[in-house]
Amino acid sequence: MTPVANSTVLDNSIIYEKCLICGSVATLKWQKHPGYREDSSYDIYHCQSCDTSFASPLKVDESIYDAIYSQVQNIPGYERYFNYLAKAKTSIDPLSMLAEVEDVYWGIARYFQLFESVHNPQKILEVGSGMGYLTFSLKKRGYDVTGIDLSESAVVRAKESFGDLFQCTHLSDFSRLHEGEYSEVIMTELIEHIPDVYDLLLDVDRVLKPGGNIVITTPNKSAFNSDVLWETDPPPVHLWWFSEQSVVEIANKIGYQVSFIDFSEYNKKHKQIIKFRREYSRPTRNSILLENNSIAVAPIATKIHRNLLNIKEISSYLGIALKIAFKITSRRRTTMCAVLKKKNI
Ligand SMILES: [Zn+2]
Repeated sequence: MTPVANSTVLDNSIIYEKCLICGSVATLKWQKHPGYREDSSYDIYHCQSCDTSFASPLKVDESIYDAIYSQVQNIPGYERYFNYLAKAKTSIDPLSMLAEVEDVYWGIARYFQLFESVHNPQKILEVGSGMGYLTFSLKKRGYDVTGIDLSESAVVRAKESFGDLFQCTHLSDFSRLHEGEYSEVIMTELIEHIPDVYDLLLDVDRVLKPGGNIVITTPNKSAFNSDVLWETDPPPVHLWWFSEQSVVEIANKIGYQVSFIDFSEYNKKHKQIIKFRREYSRPTRNSILLENNSIAVAPIATKIHRNLLNIKEISSYLGIALKIAFKITSRRRTTMCAVLKKKNI
């Protein structure tokens, strides 16, 4: 391997970067991992101390999200959001509908089920509200809720679909106008996209009341063995792959208490299947977009993402064995849902 910019070579073979989550040293695991767009590549580092993996450079050109959202119906992993929007519009109880189809939303629904009586949510902010269906589903449950998002096209679409619950704004601007107003801040599948996580949480802390909760979902690295390289979207769309220990570290750093939603109830009804790969310490994710922003993935992959093939068909096509894998436990899934509690004054 050749040394990469901004990193330190402590001897001839191992390259380190500082882990921005815990401050320990992170080791280079892979050079030139395929980027989300084919013309890019990123190095992957892993911090053993807090079991966090991250991409280097930790930077994103946000125009990539315009490329994604302008063709969202066909982007693997994103096209389901389009379906949720359509379903939420006609659903009597969209939060229950979402909780049934995806563990991310089950985690959020479970949070409200568990915390409603003890915490009494009063005013909720969803950061990164995207197409708006989660904000709307909380509104339908009777909560006072606002969604904010950076993407103007997403906010326009959300307003058209669900009414005036949304603002197109940056959290740092919003937080200065709404200090200490919110009892809950919800962020689903957001923090793994953000270069400076602590910067984001500073703004979240500003809008949150004392005793308020941040509810976060993110892909859970703890569900995999520690040598699995990067079983999440290619950088720079996902810049981080967090473990439960990463989130404990983050909570400690910002002085919050942390707890994790237990997925046991969900797991009873929804089995989690992870592709077993022979060489999972190597890159397993290919670029999604071509250099001109058209979609790079083969139609078969799109079908897999849309669940149009059954497990046997996928398995035979890819020539891989599938098994219920690694460190999935009764309470854990490949998604985690963490509750970070701000101290009361
Ligand atoms: Zn670390």
